[in-house]
Amino acid sequence: MESYDVVIIGSGPAGLGAAFELLGRRPGTSVLMLDKNDFSSGGLRNDCKMNFTWPIGFPELCWTSREAGAYLGRVEAFLAPKIMEKRNIEVYARRAEKIGVALLEIRQAHLGTDGGLELIKRLMQRLGELGASLSLGERALSLDSGARVLRTDRRELRYRNLVIAPGRGGFAFLQELMAAAAVEFTDNIVDVGIRIETGEERYPIVRDYYDPKFLFPKKTRTFCTNSRAAYVVQEKYEDRDGGVWYSVNGHSWSGSRPPNGLVNFALLKTVTLTEPLASGQAYARMLGIQAALLGGGRPIMQRIGDFRLGKRSTREAFSGDLYDFEPTLPSATPGDIGLVAPAKVMRALWNAMKLLDTIVPGLLHPSTIMYYPEIKLYANRPVFMDANFRAAPGLYLVGDGAGTSRGITAAWASGMRAADGILSS
Ligand SMILES: Cc1cc2nc3c(=O)[nH]c(=O)nc-3n(C[C@H](O)[C@H](O)[C@H](O)COP(=O)(O)OP(=O)(O)OC[C@H]3O[C@@H](n4cnc5c(N)ncnc54)[C@H](O)[C@@H]3O)c2cc1C
Repeated sequence: MESYDVVIIGSGPAGLGAAFELLGRRPGTSVLMLDKNDFSSGGLRNDCKMNFTWPIGFPELCWTSREAGAYLGRVEAFLAPKIMEKRNIEVYARRAEKIGVALLEIRQAHLGTDGGLELIKRLMQRLGELGASLSLGERALSLDSGARVLRTDRRELRYRNLVIAPGRGGFAFLQELMAAAAVEFTDNIVDVGIRIETGEERYPIVRDYYDPKFLFPKKTRTFCTNSRAAYVVQEKYEDRDGGVWYSVNGHSWSGSRPPNGLVNFALLKTVTLTEPLASGQAYARMLGIQAALLGGGRPIMQRIGDFRLGKRSTREAFSGDLYDFEPTLPSATPGDIGLVAPAKVMRALWNAMKLLDTIVPGLLHPSTIMYYPEIKLYANRPVFMDANFRAAPGLYLVGDGAGTSRGITAAWASGMRAADGILSS
């Protein structure tokens, strides 16, 4: 049986952070990185906005601001990003403060989906030069954590340390592995919301601040803003019981496609569940399936004009004269989000939209589109044995799937932190 010092499941930023740290500090370590996809590497492929300010991307249950700051410094030193300038934001910050909203000032870099692909190519080449083995198209299946053996769809592998970084899409897979390794976990937090798409002239703040982070009352916030050549996309979720549903998301291209004059961003409310249903994943699945039921198997989109009148959107609403841009996710079904989103979530979102329209007037133009659902499933909360995300002997759980991050830079930092644990063990 092949044997490695470290096997890493997932070639997203968390897996990469671990691999580069291990090989950079201890050359000669035998590292195998697996990814079920034929390409690498997870979420760096999508838009690749990188945030370098606490607390963006860092769940506060796992990171103090000091810890995050120290790791962010190391991530920045490695990735050497070009930080974008922000201009004229004082006026927005003042308006926000007056109505109880916070505008966070974040250091950001943006590569775009095309720039992200270039970065991945360079990183993969560097990993190879450092001596890592990379196996794409190989899916990790199960684990015997006592014997330190991993079974994939191709072989069995022995490892001294295993870093599991399967991302949000691997949320359920990670739960199976944790059950097999007797790692206790909870998953009682989920973010539920919408993605908003509108003309750039109705949300001009993006010309001065690429991804403005607003925090509203009732645990509601803006997240992942895209502009210039911006598109809404859908992610498919399938479960073992045959349930299929979609969450929307967004990305943009930095230079390889012409600007389309649109902006999209998520507006999310954090929901914390208590007994008797404490599974964020189960809740998210039911919400997703309900949306797919009313959307004919697709996400739902609704123009603000229709939402305000309390009526569903129809295909006609997407071609009337008031509606001056086409949706970038045309396969979404025009419908009534009020029928599928929980009332408490919808109220918080609508309240946030009104506040945002006061800060950046124009957002609530009738043509603005809301897409539902946008759900973030990164709330597995394993019980860790130490500060390096070790959940069992030789077993480290990192990245978004393990709830240790919510974005590229924090995912990278979580992989580094696991590597620190391995190097000091
Ligand atoms: C459309 C979109 C846009 C985004 N834009 C941004 C952004 O601009 N900025 C930002 O900070 N964040 C963004 N994010 C979030 C960001 O991508 C994630 O926070 C980050 O990628 C998490 O890193 P990760 O390493 O934990 O997981 P991932 O990047 O998801 O990587 C996990 C990898 O594990 C592999 N994998 C899963 N299960 C298995 C298995 N069983 N066997 C083998 N391999 C497996 C997957 O194929 C995947 O490649 C975006 C996400 C999406 C979907």
